[in-house]
Amino acid sequence: MYKTGDSCPVCGEGKLSDKVTVERFEYKGQKLLVPDYLVYECGVCSEEFVARKTLNKTEKILTDFRREVDGLLTSEEIKAIRTKLGKTQTAMATLLGVGEKNFARYENGRVTQSKSMDLLLRMIDEAPYILGRLTAKSHMQQLTSYQLSVKALDDRLLKREDDQGVSGYKLKCEVLGAA
Ligand SMILES: [Zn+2]
Repeated sequence: MYKTGDSCPVCGEGKLSDKVTVERFEYKGQKLLVPDYLVYECGVCSEEFVARKTLNKTEKILTDFRREVDGLLTSEEIKAIRTKLGKTQTAMATLLGVGEKNFARYENGRVTQSKSMDLLLRMIDEAPYILGRLTAKSHMQQLTSYQLSVKALDDRLLKREDDQGVSGYKLKCEVLGAA
């Protein structure tokens, strides 16, 4: 990546220098201004290059911006649901049948949760006992009268757009006692 004092890769004549700006983003007609947006600007041709740390910092901001536009939970809201339950990121990933690191990625903005996962998280937040029952279920390996409500949730898990088809299937087997 670029740094102050580098030769401009476009014109080859100028040197790059820091420039802090306000960057505009747009998503589905909604606009977002990101302040303190560090770029390197060529003194000769005025070409701008985005700093790596700016990209990293902006990724989560943009993910949450798109989530808000799409009506999905933000990083902080997802974290709040988890901490209220007293679970680690890994424990949540296991319980929800997503990849080990995926719940952490929901929280740090690297991955946006599917609408189904979003709905499941809201349901768990509204009715935390559901999570307790799911946990008990996978340990006990037996079916009881709440099978129907569990299955409704489970169907949502299977409809996820994530890449977790296999673990979702395994969870279904556990829940239904078919493993
Ligand atoms: Zn230049």
